[in-house]
Amino acid sequence: MDSLLVITMALIIVQSYKENNHLTVAERSPGIQRQTLSYVVSNVMNKNITYQPIRIQVVYRDMYFELSVEERERMIGAVFKAVEKISQLLSVFPVQKPVLLKRSGCHKEWTTGPNKGRCKSIKRNYQSEICMDTFKIPDDHLDGLYVWNELDPDPIRVVYSQGAGVNSTDFILHVDSVTTDVCGFNSVNKVLSYSKVCHVDQYDRPISGCINVCPHSVNNSPEKLYKTLLHELFHTLGFSKTHFQYFKKCQIKDRNLDCQPLVLRETQNHFGCTTETKYGAPLEGKFNNFTSHWDKVLMYGSIMTPDMGMPHVTFIDRITLAVFEDSGWYKVDYRSADVYVWGKNMGCVDRSEFCAKYEDYICKNNSVVGCHYLHKDKGYCKQESNLSCRIYQPQPKGECFKPREPDFEEEIFGASSFCVISNLTTDYVEKTAILTGRCYLQKCSRNRNLLVKVHGSDWNDCPYGKLLKIQGYRGYIKCPTSKDIMCPELPDDTTIPGTESSNVIYYTSTSAKISSTDHSSIDSVSSGTNDNLSANISPILLIFVYLIDQYTVI
Ligand SMILES: [Zn+2]
Repeated sequence: MDSLLVITMALIIVQSYKENNHLTVAERSPGIQRQTLSYVVSNVMNKNITYQPIRIQVVYRDMYFELSVEERERMIGAVFKAVEKISQLLSVFPVQKPVLLKRSGCHKEWTTGPNKGRCKSIKRNYQSEICMDTFKIPDDHLDGLYVWNELDPDPIRVVYSQGAGVNSTDFILHVDSVTTDVCGFNSVNKVLSYSKVCHVDQYDRPISGCINVCPHSVNNSPEKLYKTLLHELFHTLGFSKTHFQYFKKCQIKDRNLDCQPLVLRETQNHFGCTTETKYGAPLEGKFNNFTSHWDKVLMYGSIMTPDMGMPHVTFIDRITLAVFEDSGWYKVDYRSADVYVWGKNMGCVDRSEFCAKYEDYICKNNSVVGCHYLHKDKGYCKQESNLSCRIYQPQPKGECFKPREPDFEEEIFGASSFCVISNLTTDYVEKTAILTGRCYLQKCSRNRNLLVKVHGSDWNDCPYGKLLKIQGYRGYIKCPTSKDIMCPELPDDTTIPGTESSNVIYYTSTSAKISSTDHSSIDSVSSGTNDNLSANISPILLIFVYLIDQYTVI
């Protein structure tokens, strides 16, 4: 069995749900093996079967060759965390028997007679089951492979005997970290990781997949590694252009993933787009086709965009989760979704209208430092392909919430700081007073007014969309426009820290976001990736890294 380390994630929770999957027969993509699993019979026969959190068995492969002990531990920790998160989010009809994956070694099957459907001859040079070029599936996980003659009830040759299978699991995930040709795609773009669905069941639900995390990327921050793995796990569980066609309640229309009812519900709720009854979720377009990711502009910051960026501004959004539910294979627990505000209530926006409608989110001047739309970071202006405007990306080392020496005299960095456009100065030389993104302390009143404090000042009310003067400084602060981003609404039962008087209660937007969902935490204000999908290697989902904290999938 090579050097396999097998870890099973045992999961609990119960959710009652009584909708049957639909039985659909479709041609599979090359290399994807269909598997008949016992839960299907149970589903159809027993209406009382309930969805259970997906049980993922992780099989680590040859990580011992290239990773140090610490790197292996980091990988295993990140995989564990990602698998645990997926199990919170997704439930399936549990597979009743050990999972045995079908071998692809049969060359021809009998088409008539008593052995119809059984294997007549074996592929030349078939030796083992390989997924994504290098992942050898352990024989123990695989079904037997036999050859029958035309009439005999027993096989005339046992090529491989049946393995034991994998108990108590709904999905087998193979994880490796080896340097491959794909990892070193070229000297500019280095691949961070890539993945593929390996096997599906007879309802087309993926039941095994593989992820290779290129060794050079294991040393990224733990949050980035975690979000990278989550992104890839979503691909292996079906969020892939090769699998959208098998989703039970979805179709692709004009590069929109049009799924009903849940994706439609979520896109309408999120964007506030209720006039278009078919408003689907926008997929990334490339080479006149769609890819396995969301449009990186309209779904900016979603975990399934090709430009996930830094981990703390990448989110598991409800629209992505709804896709899994509309696939017909999963039940989703939306309580584990992150708060996602990009495009909130912007209406039915087409990509061509983006620059005009998202005026507050975009930038025009390349050279001036601004603020990322969440105001946690200073931002630099980045051009997105086929867009007439630019979007602020988090600037490396521009996190306001990390304490450090200020760039400007009045700045304050720390956990409660935020980025705002300002030209405050005590200098009388006019040229120093350039409007740029700067970090100040921030808090919110109970009625969601924004208050700002700079070095040496008191708290000042910062009216949304207005200019604010600060005593002792020349220049002004441009107060942000979005109350929902700066001082989001708190759930009724939220306890707000930091009471400052008997009449006014203040909170920071950071604390508000953490407390606004059940499972959202600092972790959820975390990781991300950048990626695009290449047409010529489409079944494999790649993440490339460029610059220090950016990566992309082609
Ligand atoms: Zn991807």
